Formats: sequence, structure tokens, C-alpha cells
Amino acid sequence: MRVVVVGGGVAGCAAAYYLAREGVAVTLVERESAASGASGYAVGLLNPLTGAGVPGPMEPLSALAFDMHRRLWPELEERSGIDLQAEMVAHLELCHTEEDAALAARTVARWQSAPGFSAAWLPPDEVHRVEPRVSREALGAVMLEKVALLDSRSLTLALLGAARSLGADIVRGDVTSVTPSGVTLRGLEMTCDALVLAMGPWSGRVSQWLGVDVPVEPLKGQILHLKGLDPPLACHIAGPGQAAHKRDGLVWIGATEEDEGFDTRLTSQARGVLMDRAARMVPSLAGLSVAGQTSCLRPVSPDRLPIVGPAPGRENIYLATAAGKKGILIGPAMGRAVADLIIEGKTDLPIEPFAPSRFCEVGS
Ligand SMILES: Cc1cc2nc3c(=O)[nH]c(=O)nc-3n(C[C@H](O)[C@H](O)[C@H](O)COP(=O)(O)OP(=O)(O)OC[C@H]3O[C@@H](n4cnc5c(N)ncnc54)[C@H](O)[C@@H]3O)c2cc1C
Repeated sequence: MRVVVVGGGVAGCAAAYYLAREGVAVTLVERESAASGASGYAVGLLNPLTGAGVPGPMEPLSALAFDMHRRLWPELEERSGIDLQAEMVAHLELCHTEEDAALAARTVARWQSAPGFSAAWLPPDEVHRVEPRVSREALGAVMLEKVALLDSRSLTLALLGAARSLGADIVRGDVTSVTPSGVTLRGLEMTCDALVLAMGPWSGRVSQWLGVDVPVEPLKGQILHLKGLDPPLACHIAGPGQAAHKRDGLVWIGATEEDEGFDTRLTSQARGVLMDRAARMVPSLAGLSVAGQTSCLRPVSPDRLPIVGPAPGRENIYLATAAGKKGILIGPAMGRAVADLIIEGKTDLPIEPFAPSRFCEVGS
């Protein structure tokens, strides 16, 4: 069997890896370079207990995806030779208002009941024992043990490197349409038995190709990288923003959410907003110099849930996209789910709520 995967982000590279691991002949087509989209710039926080659809339909997939990651890391590092810079870290969710604190009481109860995690409410003095540089304005925090941080670019490249080590091919090019038996690339047809479309925020193009609605839009996110904080932050901190001290030695401040279409220009306005958020969480961050600023696009659907599974009305075409703010967490699971569907016709991963058919009216 021969499979073409379109898109070299985390979703496409994961699909290529899981297919190649089962001996399937895979060609991944990427028009720029692997990890050139959001998969190469994301913060890389893996927290299955927050985000769209949690609590709700995303809970089972997020939990399984989190477990999958930890099993996957050694396998990928060995096969690709790439250090994922993965670590388990504590997460501190700061509360700055009485409203935040009321919400936190419910959050603690939910997080405490999540298998494999422990959570506790920390009053201000205990917050400062954990991380003395947290703002004195914080009324307390929920502490969650343990989430994970990794380098999303390394993860994506490791998935691809591991797929290559198992025989997958990589082709550079812009896929411009789907044909009855494959895709069109540089005016030529590339044929295959099954096709995976994992084109991130550009997945909306598929609607025209397939004659079904694949409503994926870009949601811009800018991140600041700050240098010179010593000692490193004791944990991942969230509040008005997000501060992650990464293994590259920089503090990553995330992230804006901007509805700007496909415009990825860096803006001084975003830089100001992110700096203000950083200072509200940890005032000493405001004194650091900016080592970098990045911008990229999350793929989002109207209900903010991923789109994973067979394309309605088209045999042997599968979608793996719209992971929104959680693509680094669920990307490997999305890739494995479509690989399972192609190889076995079924998957044990809980992807039913994310079927493309929930949006798709089969067209003419
Ligand atoms: C600021 C920010 C922070 C984030 N932080 C986190 C985080 O901490 N944790 C987390 O879990 N998630 C995070 N995310 C979300 C995550 O980055 C995305 O959900 C994920 O990277 C999407 O991966 P993807 O493979 O679907 O798409 P992409 O990474 O966008 O990859 C799609 C690829 O398809 C290629 N492509 C598109 N069209 C074609 C075509 N026609 N032909 C050939 N190639 C094509 C593109 O060039 C691109 O490389 C963050 C996102 C942003 C923006």
C-alpha cells in the first residue's frame, strides 16, 4: 500500500511515522520545510487538563495523547537521534481576582480527580515558597503536578526523522488539488492508495478540492523569548499569560490570539501585551531583554475541536487538522488515529466527536 501525507507539521509527520512503523510505503509532501508552521514555534506545553473541550469531548483523547507522548519520546529519540528537550514540570495557575479564585476551587477538584495527577490550592505564602518571584498581587494559585514541556520543532522533526529511518520519503512541493487517485503536485499527478491531508491552518483549501466543507481558519499567535533569568523559573506559570522556562535557557511568554487571517507579521503591540502579562505574573521578567519574537498560525475549527477521520463521500482520504491550541499534545494521537484507520479500518483512539462529517455537507 502507498500513502501520501500532505503537510509536514506535527500531525502529518506523526501520520507518516505511524504508517512507516507498520511497514506502509509513505511519501510526505511539504511545500516549505517540515515544522515551518506552528509545529515549529509552539510553546510545547503538554497539559491534558485544560483547553477547548476539557472538561468535555476532548478529555479522553487529551489524556491518552499525554500518555502516548511519554511512551513515544524514547522511541523517537532513539530512531531520530534528536533530543526532544522533554521534561516533566509543575504547573502553577495564578489567581489575581476573587473570580479567578472561585474558578480555581472547581479546577482543583477536577484536577485532583484526574488519574496520574495531583493538584492543590496554594495560598500566597506557599506560592512564594515554590517560586519567590511570582507577583505579590496573586491571591493564590492552583499547583498541578506534573505536566510536560518539550521543544515542538524537535518533536516534529524527530517524528519525520524516525519516519525516514523506516523508509518514508519526503518531497518538497505545494499540493494544488486532489485527483481521483492521488494529488497534483507541480502539475503532475502523484498516485496513492490512501491520502492524509494534514495541512494545518491551510486545510480550508480542501473544501474546494473535495466538495465538502472543511471549515478550518488560522488563529495567529505571537510569543516573546526573554533571556537572562537566573535561576530558572521553578515551574510553568499561567495567569494573565504563560511563562515557560525552556531548556534553551529562554523564558517563553505566550501567546496572543489574533484574528488576522494568514498575516503572520510580528507587531510591537503584541510585544507590549506579552510584556505586560509577563510582568503581572512575575515582575522581574519585565527587566529582561527580548531574545526573539515569533508568530505562527493555529488551525482552528468553528467548535474549536479537531477534525480527524475519513473525509465524507471520499474513500481513502483522511483529515488530521484543527488541533487549535493543543496540536503538540494531540498531534501524535491524531497521526496514529489516521494511520490505524488506513491500515486496519478502525482505531481504538476516541476520535468519534471529531469526525469531519460533523461539518461536511457532501457537495456536487
Ligand atoms: C503561539 C502558539 C503556541 C502554541 N503552543 C502550544 C502548546 O504549548 N501546546 C500544544 O499542544 N499546542 C500548542 N500550539 C498549537 C500547535 O502548535 C498547533 O495546533 C499544531 O502545531 C498544528 O500542527 P499541524 O500539523 O496541524 O499544522 P502546521 O504545523 O501548520 O503544519 C501544516 C503544514 O502543512 C503544510 N502545507 C499546507 N498546505 C500545503 C500544501 N498544499 N502542500 C504541501 N504542504 C502544505 C504547511 O507548509 C505546514 O508545514 C500553539 C500554537 C501557537 C500558534
